[in-house]
Amino acid sequence: MEEHEIVIGLEVHAELLTESKMFCGCSTKFGSAPNTQICPVCAGLPGTLPVINGKAVELALKAAIALKCRPASFSRFARKHYFYPDLPKNFQISQFEEPLAEGGYLSIEGRTIRIKRIHMEEDAGKLLHSEDEGSFSSVDLNRSCVPLIEIVTEPDIRSSFEAEKFLASIKRILEYLEVSDCNMEEGSLRCDANISVRKKGDEAFGVKTEIKNMNSFKAVRKALDYEARRQISQLKKGEKLRQETRLWNDGLQITEGMRSKEEAHDYRYFPEPDLVPFTVDSSWTERITAMVGELPVQRKERFIKDYSLSDYDAEVLTAGKDTADYFEKCAAGYPNPKLLANWIMGDIAALLKSHKTDICDSPVGPESLVRIASMIEEGKITGSIVKKALQESFDTGIAPEKIIAEKNLAQIHNEDRINAVIKETVEENPKAVQDYKNGKEQAVSFLIGQIMRKTSGQANPAILKKNLLEYLKEIK
Ligand code: ADP
Ligand code: MG
Ligand code: ZN
Repeated sequence: MEEHEIVIGLEVHAELLTESKMFCGCSTKFGSAPNTQICPVCAGLPGTLPVINGKAVELALKAAIALKCRPASFSRFARKHYFYPDLPKNFQISQFEEPLAEGGYLSIEGRTIRIKRIHMEEDAGKLLHSEDEGSFSSVDLNRSCVPLIEIVTEPDIRSSFEAEKFLASIKRILEYLEVSDCNMEEGSLRCDANISVRKKGDEAFGVKTEIKNMNSFKAVRKALDYEARRQISQLKKGEKLRQETRLWNDGLQITEGMRSKEEAHDYRYFPEPDLVPFTVDSSWTERITAMVGELPVQRKERFIKDYSLSDYDAEVLTAGKDTADYFEKCAAGYPNPKLLANWIMGDIAALLKSHKTDICDSPVGPESLVRIASMIEEGKITGSIVKKALQESFDTGIAPEKIIAEKNLAQIHNEDRINAVIKETVEENPKAVQDYKNGKEQAVSFLIGQIMRKTSGQANPAILKKNLLEYLKEIK
């Protein structure tokens, strides 16, 4: 395996977060009943005219600038022809020779992946195949004409791991800029992967295949790993590779040939005559550049510097904009960022996951977390109580500090109350007391355990231990 090098280039599609479609006023909302968000334009009726959605261009430019691309001074839409039932016009309005932006890059862990181009296009509809025998397929055009950007990289990626990192990084940037929600399950972020292998040290690239149909990062990584193995073993057998498009079969965990280069479409691109070419001038570029602001990598560096967080913590906390915003809201009201980071990345992250909730909808708002963190530091509550309160907060939707107050979960500091339980426990366990007197230190731990049980874990541990030892010393 080692004598081969893997070469990967990605084509990433992201749906833009506009209210309305690319060339008409229909809603882009996901999940509505089929064909309820269509009009003559996006249903492809003859004689209709498209109109460019300015907001879509703005979002695409934001992505382009964040990825260091040069916006084109002359940009034009083009018709890409193919026949498919989910494409009622029989052509897709895309861009070809005059894309919106070119020549950018994205650095991931010290490696630079060049971005060849970013262009805009409209999405196609969706076919719904019913599973029954002898059945039919129907088409839902709600997605038809939803604005997309396609980000095409140069073949600079060298492993499936790096491909996954690149995608994660793109996703984070697009989410940060609110260019796309990047929801992979809903198809808002999709990726085709081109891959070839070559002998280490070779100049020329090998024959590539293009893999489609992967709908998770994991699927991308697995498909690339499978395909690299397949290509290398073909070459080792002395067989030639075919340039072809292959589909990832997630059930079988293999790629399967779909069409070879000879069968490839000739799309007969030509400039879209119904739309005017447009120019992105420097003042527009400047305006968008100002809107782009702080990018995830910069925010991560700032978290390390301003909050003295570790590289790892800063990475996790800035992975999503919502989490980063949440953390900063907490940190504004509380002086110990590390403690906040631990709770956010630990229990809160786990509860969000198990309850399938976004951090913005968490029952534990930033004020709640600040309140709780202060109580911990003041010694009013223990970590185990907080865990319980957070769990219950997620189960009931009630703020955790309320639960702590209502259920009286705060630590017992009252020495009379603690001493009463100590006395009772010692009387109930003469053997443990005897053991202690005979020099068995573990007997103390046993007694502390008993007392904690009686107080539901709420006795202040320091007071408890000190008073217990004093009490034991006094009795003969
Ligand atoms: P095509 O004309 O086949 O669409 P492009 O030049 O447009 O090819 O490139 C499409 C994608 O394939 C790009 O992301 C590019 O980086 C990638 N690519 C091109 N050649 C190779 C190769 N030999 N191995 C891996 N990826 C490649
Ligand atoms: Mg291509
Ligand atoms: Zn429409």
